[in-house]
Amino acid sequence: MVIKPDALRRGLIGKIMTRFEDRGIKVVAMRMLMMTKELAARHYAEHVEKDFYDEMVEFMMSGPILAVVFEAEDIVRIVRDMAGATDSSKAEHGTIRGDFGLSCRKNVVHTSDSVESANREIDIFFASV
Ligand code: ADP
Ligand code: MG
Repeated sequence: MVIKPDALRRGLIGKIMTRFEDRGIKVVAMRMLMMTKELAARHYAEHVEKDFYDEMVEFMMSGPILAVVFEAEDIVRIVRDMAGATDSSKAEHGTIRGDFGLSCRKNVVHTSDSVESANREIDIFFASV
């Protein structure tokens, strides 16, 4: 998971992390860093051609992000369920996006969509630690 710049600006790290800790999910790594164009192009490779890409990357570079690695059985599905639908304005109440966001771009968190992308994203954000 990546906690996005909007959430860091608003001081939501604690509230977001508490949800995972309360659920009993193990936190195995965290790193606060700045997104760069190069990291974004790798992280969001599937979206490079999309019309929302440039503004999305501008936003992701607008302040620090917090990359978090969780460990649990079936963790990819669980974290995506807890994050909710991509567009916060439509995400269900009880999900992170549904409870803390109103926007599609500023949607509080990024979550990996498969074990493969989780491993790829861990390489991207933790490689130079
Ligand atoms: P998710 O984050 O739920 O996996 P996607 O991978 O489809 O969603 O999109 C990546 C990110 O790009 C989203 O989290 C969101 O911030 C942004 N995004 C997606 N679609 C749009 C859109 N139509 N307009 C603005 N931003 C978008
Ligand atoms: Mg995605």
